[in-house]
Amino acid sequence: MSTIKTIAFIGLGNMGGPMAANMVKGGFAVTAYDLSETALAQAKKNGCEAAQSVAEAVSGKDAVITMLPAGKHVRAVYGGADGIFASARAGALFCDCSTIDVQSARDVATEAQAHSFDMVDSPVSGGVAAASAGTLAFMVGGSDAAFNKAQSVLDPMAKTVLHAGGNGAGQAAKICNNMLLGITMIGTAEAFVLAKKLGLDPQRFFDISSNASGQNWSMTSYCPEPGPVPASPANNGYKPGFAAAMMLKDLRLAQEAAQNAGASTPLGAEAQALYALFDSLGGGDTDFSGIIQMLSGEMNKA
Ligand code: NAD
Repeated sequence: MSTIKTIAFIGLGNMGGPMAANMVKGGFAVTAYDLSETALAQAKKNGCEAAQSVAEAVSGKDAVITMLPAGKHVRAVYGGADGIFASARAGALFCDCSTIDVQSARDVATEAQAHSFDMVDSPVSGGVAAASAGTLAFMVGGSDAAFNKAQSVLDPMAKTVLHAGGNGAGQAAKICNNMLLGITMIGTAEAFVLAKKLGLDPQRFFDISSNASGQNWSMTSYCPEPGPVPASPANNGYKPGFAAAMMLKDLRLAQEAAQNAGASTPLGAEAQALYALFDSLGGGDTDFSGIIQMLSGEMNKA
């Protein structure tokens, strides 16, 4: 049984808001903080106690969960005179669920260890719907001991909690997975565009390719062509789902990591360029599978 009972939750946006609500449902006493008064008021309605600062939220708590936009926000909230390191009680556990660059995740974890705190990076797969349903997939980076503690904390928000490796490995797993997802989505979309130009019926192409060597998740679970996969956003006007702007963010993080690590990822770079183009044409708020509309020339017709 976990001895962690009190939680501070910092960052109550589209994801963090419903995640904090699920922590309350999971039986934890949750003290919440966000710069947005609206987000804070909603958290109160969901059963959280509202704090007026990071320091007030984390003071005396067993664990701290953060769900913030990017690395710079995470560095600011953890570091600094009124930050988490300065205000948390000795021995508290930190779980950063934000999607951020690998280097920031490693730097913040190193600082946490220097202050004798346990910390994991625990980014998620799954969007707002999964955050609300408590069915997120967590990819966790940290020591075995920190992972074991974090498992029971993340459980009320999770479908799966997997240990990726040491600090930063959760972020690495997330961006490598999403780089692959971006590439396979573009490849799948191109195949449907070409199939149709060659006079193939999309459903027949799907029936053949999904049972042949072209089979992949972007085709069989999230098909960008309307029709073959009823639950895919293609059948719902490409409403996200997973917004193309979020995919672009992850592809940028992957390229940044690839450059820092000296890895050659030319298809990842091309996927980033194509999603940046899609975003600049107004596709950012569309589901990422909507890139098929750009590739087929449908976007320009609007
Ligand atoms: P969001 O912009 O809706 O929420 C971020 C929240 O952080 C905002 O409410 C903001 O006010 C708050 N914030 C920023 N700086 C703060 C500070 N200094 N102190 C307190 N609060 C602060 O973003 P989101 O969609 O909830 O995403 C959060 C993270 O989850 C991002 O890293 C994103 O990449 C990742 N993510 C998002 C999705 C998704 O579908 N939205 C899916 C998977 C992962």
